[in-house]
Amino acid sequence: MSTAFRFDPVELPPACEALRAEVREFIAAELAAGLWAANSDFGSHRSGEFSRRLGARGWIGMTWPKRYGGGERSMLERYVVTEELLAAGAPVGAHWIADRQSAPLLLRFGTEEQRMTFLPGIARGEIFFCIGMSEPDSGSDLASIRTRAVPVAGGYEVTGTKIWTSYAHESHFAITLVRTGPADADRHRGLSQLILDLKSPGITIRPIINLAGDHDFNEVVLDCVFVPADRLVGQEGEGWRQVSSELAFERSGPERFLSSFQVLVELIRRAGPDPEPHIAEAVGRMTAHLCTLRRMSLSIAGRLQAGETPNLEAALVKDLGNAFERQIPEIARLIAPALPRAANDRFDEVLADTILHAPSWTLRGGTREILRGIIARGLGLR
Ligand SMILES: Cc1cc2nc3c(=O)[nH]c(=O)nc-3n(C[C@H](O)[C@H](O)[C@H](O)COP(=O)(O)OP(=O)(O)OC[C@H]3O[C@@H](n4cnc5c(N)ncnc54)[C@H](O)[C@@H]3O)c2cc1C
Repeated sequence: MSTAFRFDPVELPPACEALRAEVREFIAAELAAGLWAANSDFGSHRSGEFSRRLGARGWIGMTWPKRYGGGERSMLERYVVTEELLAAGAPVGAHWIADRQSAPLLLRFGTEEQRMTFLPGIARGEIFFCIGMSEPDSGSDLASIRTRAVPVAGGYEVTGTKIWTSYAHESHFAITLVRTGPADADRHRGLSQLILDLKSPGITIRPIINLAGDHDFNEVVLDCVFVPADRLVGQEGEGWRQVSSELAFERSGPERFLSSFQVLVELIRRAGPDPEPHIAEAVGRMTAHLCTLRRMSLSIAGRLQAGETPNLEAALVKDLGNAFERQIPEIARLIAPALPRAANDRFDEVLADTILHAPSWTLRGGTREILRGIIARGLGLR
């Protein structure tokens, strides 16, 4: 059955703009103190200390109930804080997964005890989570995972290997997808989500160094790891449905089109106030794309605020957004020779770093082919 895309326009209320000014003031003070250099790729820019400073301002867990350490603010207010932090290139990566994904999952499916245990620490920027979904032979085809959780007295014993687990080496817990039931009749049944304490005996975290030479992701080997029964998230066997519900949060935010924003900033800076016509045209085109993507992404924030789950539109924003953020360094590389020379700006450094990180952006969080399959199904084309 086909579904039409829906992108209702969203106007930000005045309270959001006041909040934006507050965030900009905070960022200006951080930059003036030389605490970090701008990098808008949330996946490769992390600082636990920055996360704690952000937590102290109330800018992690902004939308959650106050009893869990949240701020009871709107999705649109959260959006404004998020886009300002990413546009400024703040080191948001340490708390990113916990704030965006793990905590909303626990709010929706977790027990009261789990929420009370984890959420206040996440909101303070003290507890970090990672995602243990992919395995050496299971990426796009996630339902084929083989990590198994076998019932034992008081909980489960988990054995298997997870791969590409971003920040596992700097996180405290992993929301891990495991098989708890047979895959015979319906592969999507019999999957469950467990909160894994990464300090548990039997866990080995090995670094995987990426193209840029950075240690962002890992291989996580689980050898008979005991997980207490009260660390099961939601219902046993319902892991697939629960994982799917995370996707609108994971796929629609400004982190899906702002990763290379610093290249655009530095390009405009180097081009100066009176650029050559073809440079002005390239900048104009990129800016127009950016504004459109932002309106689409903001529209999804509006629907999340209304309690909806716009997974189809989120897949579209991620696909278009990832294509855009990969295109920026490519365009910048091609027009770089025509830019005025400048000895003391960051353009070359930012471009080189972005070129090395950009290939992964269309893979993380679901590849483009998979997203296009979801979009095609939503449009009734398959
Ligand atoms: C930077 C980065 C960070 C990551 N962080 C995490 C993390 O924290 N936790 C985690 O669990 N995973 C993480 N991943 C893994 C990521 O989710 C997977 O790489 C992704 O799902 C693709 O899986 P795969 O690498 O096994 O590729 P495969 O699934 O083997 O796909 C290989 C190629 O085949 C295409 N393909 C596969 N199936 C189909 C199909 N049915 N139709 C058309 N084309 C298809 C794919 O699009 C892709 O181009 C991360 C990946 C990256 C790059």
